[in-house]
Amino acid sequence: MGTKNWAFQSASSSLAQTAATAAPRVVVIGAGMAGLVAARLLHDSGFAVTVIESRNRLGGRTWTDDSLGAPIDLGGSWIHRADHNPLTAWCKQLGIELAITSDEARYWFEGKLVMERNAVWRRAWRGRLLADLALAGAVCYQRLLRRVGRRVNLSLADVIEPVLHSRWLPALDRRVLASIVSTSEGVQGAPAAYIDIEDWFPSEAHGVNAMPCGGYRQLIDDVATGLSIRLATPVQTLAYGEEGVRAVTPQETLRADFAVVTAPLGVLQAGKLRFDPPLPPHKEAAMQRIGYGGQGVLGKIIMRFPRRFWPADKQWLISLPPSPDQRGVFTSWISLETIVGAPVLMAFTNGRAAAHFDRNASDDEVCAAAMGVLERMFPGQAVPPERFVFTRWLTDPWALGSYSYPAVGSTPDDRVAYAEPVAGRVFFAGEATQTVDFGTVHAALRSGETAARRLFRAHTGYEPVWQPPWV
Ligand SMILES: Cc1cc2nc3c(=O)[nH]c(=O)nc-3n(C[C@H](O)[C@H](O)[C@H](O)COP(=O)(O)OP(=O)(O)OC[C@H]3O[C@@H](n4cnc5c(N)ncnc54)[C@H](O)[C@@H]3O)c2cc1C
Repeated sequence: MGTKNWAFQSASSSLAQTAATAAPRVVVIGAGMAGLVAARLLHDSGFAVTVIESRNRLGGRTWTDDSLGAPIDLGGSWIHRADHNPLTAWCKQLGIELAITSDEARYWFEGKLVMERNAVWRRAWRGRLLADLALAGAVCYQRLLRRVGRRVNLSLADVIEPVLHSRWLPALDRRVLASIVSTSEGVQGAPAAYIDIEDWFPSEAHGVNAMPCGGYRQLIDDVATGLSIRLATPVQTLAYGEEGVRAVTPQETLRADFAVVTAPLGVLQAGKLRFDPPLPPHKEAAMQRIGYGGQGVLGKIIMRFPRRFWPADKQWLISLPPSPDQRGVFTSWISLETIVGAPVLMAFTNGRAAAHFDRNASDDEVCAAAMGVLERMFPGQAVPPERFVFTRWLTDPWALGSYSYPAVGSTPDDRVAYAEPVAGRVFFAGEATQTVDFGTVHAALRSGETAARRLFRAHTGYEPVWQPPWV
């Protein structure tokens, strides 16, 4: 399957029919999903492609790890809205089984009381209703003022913190609401104070979510087949001009006709990849406005236990945060037992807590915090893990965060400006260039395809007709 040519060989998709000269050279910066998709489509269309990757592995923010004795994804792990996701068709072609994770959850209150999700949500109706009204009102207010030319930028925290801390809110409602806000902070990968009110709960979190059994590595290996890839080679400077591009690395300088830049937005915002000449000011400003990293990250701890001590009949196990200010500390757990065939739990840290753990806590401290929550949920039953892995995407120099989010003051136009090619030579891809479902693997895939299409069109004047496995 992996050796199949993805580029449909027609007059409009193969360079053989459109140009008699030597194959144009393309350097693709970054071997995550976006970069590899762009590289593979261009390579199979006849371009001479070299992928340059700073890490010593492929996949970027998808990373299937075997250190717990089973393949587990430390970065992206779900295929969101799997019934409408190109990754689903691709998995099907490769014969990869999808494990659908149920939305149903069970809630724990310090181990004394355990309730099904729907019952908890029903009981906490006052808090949920108040939050819905406050959020809807704030969105209307913001839109109205913008319509008359006033720029108001409200964050999720501006609206929700007063509700969370209102004195008359029943204790249960306060804790359930804190749990809902924490979920948003996790799916967005940022604390509420940074999330734009209009986009506070990302749509991809709803619907059917599934995990590729065996991990994302299988897709990464498939797309990388046949490509020329240089690992452990960070690009320090990308120079561009009428004559082409030059990618400067500590080892060598690679010359090409075009470049596709897919390094994560946070790496570009931090100036770790320099452009010569600098990018146009309007583009640079747009890229700085989009949310990424800083205080924003999603952290995961994955623990393998000697035996299961949690019930087998629900995948999601949720501990209600004791107070709104203690949210985001490993309160959401998912059992991976049926997916990986071993007693493994995965939990998330979100919002401000996540940045603290990532930057300041040792692995043992993180493990103790996670175990503290499990002991609250399963008093006298929780046993220490045999092994665990904690992710640190915020301090990872080639990620500097987990994924982009809708920052207060940014708009989808900023992502459009980021995706715009520069000087007809430099093309941009990566999850953050997408206006829909950014922060996902399928957004990265789409962005790679779009950048390759733009480059192909710019060089040949033709619209390519491709047949990748997700079509
Ligand atoms: C903890 C976590 C959980 C997630 N969960 C999900 C999920 O369940 N479902 C989902 O759909 N998505 C999820 N995501 C998001 C998803 O993983 C990303 O959106 C996607 O993988 C990004 O792909 P990309 O190609 O845009 O970027 P990347 O994968 O980051 O690829 C960019 C590559 O560029 C390289 N690079 C950086 N700088 C340089 C340089 N100077 N020179 C050369 N190379 C460089 C990097 O090393 C990297 O390999 C999650 C992410 C994280 C971190």
